[in-house]
Amino acid sequence: MIETDILISGGGVAGLAAAAAFGAAGFRVLCVDPAPPVTEREAEGADLRTTALLQPSVEVLAAAGLWDRLAPHASPLWTMRIVDATGPGGAERARRDFVATDISDAPFGWNLPNWLLRREMVARLAELPGVDFRPGVATRGVLTRTGEAIVRLSDGTQAAARLLVAADGRASAVREALGIGVRTMRYGQKALAFAVTHPVPHEGVSTEIHRAGGPFTLVPLPDWQGRPSSAVVWMERGPEALRLAALPVPDFEAAMTERSAGLFGPLALASRRTVWPIISQIAERFAAERTALMAEAAHVVPPIGAQGLNMSLADLRLLLELAAAGDPGRPEALDAYHRGRWPEVQARIAGIDLLNRTSMAGMAPITDLRARGIGLIHDIAPLRRTLMRAGLGAR
Ligand SMILES: Cc1cc2nc3c(=O)[nH]c(=O)nc-3n(C[C@H](O)[C@H](O)[C@H](O)COP(=O)(O)OP(=O)(O)OC[C@H]3O[C@@H](n4cnc5c(N)ncnc54)[C@H](O)[C@@H]3O)c2cc1C
Repeated sequence: MIETDILISGGGVAGLAAAAAFGAAGFRVLCVDPAPPVTEREAEGADLRTTALLQPSVEVLAAAGLWDRLAPHASPLWTMRIVDATGPGGAERARRDFVATDISDAPFGWNLPNWLLRREMVARLAELPGVDFRPGVATRGVLTRTGEAIVRLSDGTQAAARLLVAADGRASAVREALGIGVRTMRYGQKALAFAVTHPVPHEGVSTEIHRAGGPFTLVPLPDWQGRPSSAVVWMERGPEALRLAALPVPDFEAAMTERSAGLFGPLALASRRTVWPIISQIAERFAAERTALMAEAAHVVPPIGAQGLNMSLADLRLLLELAAAGDPGRPEALDAYHRGRWPEVQARIAGIDLLNRTSMAGMAPITDLRARGIGLIHDIAPLRRTLMRAGLGAR
């Protein structure tokens, strides 16, 4: 039997961040994942999504000894631009800029590719003597009792941990084993995620363009092969997303340039296209005996407003704070974790669900209401600042 303080089931971006953070805080950590991390952009299975890490997340990553590794690769986000492209022929009708310097002297956040996050996180784990990362090993079964969680692993071994952290994704094996239910909302939507280059520089502006079917978002990346580059998340109804994903490259480039209202000039595809199903989901509870659910094991949101992984790092921040005050899996700590995170996550899911539904709508009354709502939020300065701070997850 392996004995450890923290067992992390799942080595996605959230699980790796948790392993580094608990390891850096001096805990013995075992992290398992059946799928070895893909750490190169061009490799088969590379995660080509990017994550806009917002200010509070950077604090968590810095404490884990990760931020110094990540900062040189990050693109700062100074402005969030929302564009209404429901004019004739998909032309721009209105735009509003939300500027980071309105609320602090730092950018809203920093954008990084997920494959690069994995590369740097795995390298960081190798520096931490208390962390044992085992790719190729899955969680198979869980038994909890007052003092520990006992986890049966796919390599035939068993591990006992004071705290079991479920970071094993939206179909979490730990959550299933413990019989914790989920509430799921489906939209019939998919997101295409890929990189582009464009002649017009992004100047640190993240641009969300609304028409129908879902937002089309460009988030700044460092230049690619000498040209300005952005990560794109393009949300559409499922069949349309699959049609776009299968188009020949010149046709796809024409379609995305049209969908971007031509704001950055002709867009050129600079990576493979990847397709992601879109749901909202929340677990009934974020904690059980000796167990905490975090990241997509606990909550999934559509990729709007860069909330998903940032909410996961907020989960991690609270778990670390509670662990610093005593036995990390004690019942009071897990209770405080559930009470501290569940209502906050539920409120964010409700907000993003509403944004997504209005962004999907193509009917004039709703698009008009959407345009007026964005204008109202933007033009009333105190409301704008409050919502910008809330979007960052500031406490
Ligand atoms: C298109 C798109 C764009 C996004 N953009 C942003 C953004 O800008 N900002 C943001 O904050 N968030 C964003 N998100 C959300 C973010 O990508 C996710 O929150 C994050 O990648 C999910 O991380 P995770 O580690 O929870 O889950 P996963 O990446 O799903 O990791 C779960 C891991 O658990 C492992 N696993 C599965 N079964 C087992 C088992 N039995 N035992 C052990 N391990 C197991 C899996 O192999 C996997 O590696 C975006 C999401 C999408 C779809």
